Amino acid sequence: MPAAGLPFDKMGVMRASRVLQLALLGVLAMTPAGAAPKKAKNVIIFLADAGGTSTLNAASIHGYSKAQSLYVQGMPHIALSDTSTNSAWVSDSAAGMTAIVTGVKTENGVISMGPDSVRGKKDGKVLKTLLEEAEDHGLSTGVITNVNIADATPAACYSHANDRRSAGEIFLQVFRPKYGNGVDVVIGAGRPAVYKAVKESGEDLDAVAAAGKRQVRSALADVPAGELRPIVVTNTEPDVPAAARLAIDRLSKNKKGYFLMIEWDAHTDNPQKGLNNLVGLDKLIREIAGTVNLKETLLVFTADHSFDLRVRAGRKDEPLLKGLDEWKEKTAGKKPAYLDLPNIRLFGSHTAEEVLVAAEGPGSERVQGFMPNTRIHEIILRSWGWWPGT
Ligand SMILES: [Zn+2]
Repeated sequence: MPAAGLPFDKMGVMRASRVLQLALLGVLAMTPAGAAPKKAKNVIIFLADAGGTSTLNAASIHGYSKAQSLYVQGMPHIALSDTSTNSAWVSDSAAGMTAIVTGVKTENGVISMGPDSVRGKKDGKVLKTLLEEAEDHGLSTGVITNVNIADATPAACYSHANDRRSAGEIFLQVFRPKYGNGVDVVIGAGRPAVYKAVKESGEDLDAVAAAGKRQVRSALADVPAGELRPIVVTNTEPDVPAAARLAIDRLSKNKKGYFLMIEWDAHTDNPQKGLNNLVGLDKLIREIAGTVNLKETLLVFTADHSFDLRVRAGRKDEPLLKGLDEWKEKTAGKKPAYLDLPNIRLFGSHTAEEVLVAAEGPGSERVQGFMPNTRIHEIILRSWGWWPGT
């Protein structure tokens, strides 16, 4: 029976329009502004080598005399990442970075090959890295480090080897890519060591580079303005912020997007240097977050493993590293495995506890809770929309 005495036909029209209205409301409710699947065009990984949570704590105090003053400590999405390897609780940079960029936990010393590798003896399964995924999809790619460019962390992005010590074999893979045209921007240190290692592999680095119409430059200042794929291998530590600015300038010319990994070593065997490096990396992240478009650029900060440094005492009005000069005098000529200052204690080794993952930009909301380091790989692929089935 029609209600309110309305004729049947009018009631039918009213019902139909109400149904349409409700359906539209439903669609709108499912896709409010901003809830459309967010995809990243560009991804930048900032890697503080050995920059665990206790080192972040110390770096904030060292740099700002204040807790939680680092940019990464204010990023909107954070998680704690397990860095254990396939078989060990404590990771080195090779296994740690391999897990992050390939999604597979392997063995210490192994560069982007599976746990079926035997270090120095047998190749394992070659694992496709995030950098290679980006190359495969036509994006531009880059790797920056303040240490040797063939060292484990950068190597895990662009190469595959059963032993991190095979620097010649590793660096030559810059010129022999499996996907796309290979890594586009390469900036790091270790020039004499890299040239020597390549020579020991029976090749001449400059000749290999020239055959690929590239040049291995020795300083950032030598890179011509128009060069889109610079390779810079310096004698001393490169200026990481200057390298990052140069890399982003070149990589962002690709309309499809880019992948960039920036490593800044935060080992604190030398606590002053390690903590300064971490404060420097954090400042760089703050700068880049303020210059790139965060609607299309995913920023991820993490460490490959933690380090045994602890703040164990100290007043808020005194320098964290007080007593360091006296310690250096006292231990001159010796090489103690530990450092014992009034406010800091450290043993020169990696440790197993979880490290921070902090992120912002499209897809960063997936960074949450306790998670394995391999999930960083999944989160980045999902952000790009390349995770299988998404
Ligand atoms: Zn490391």
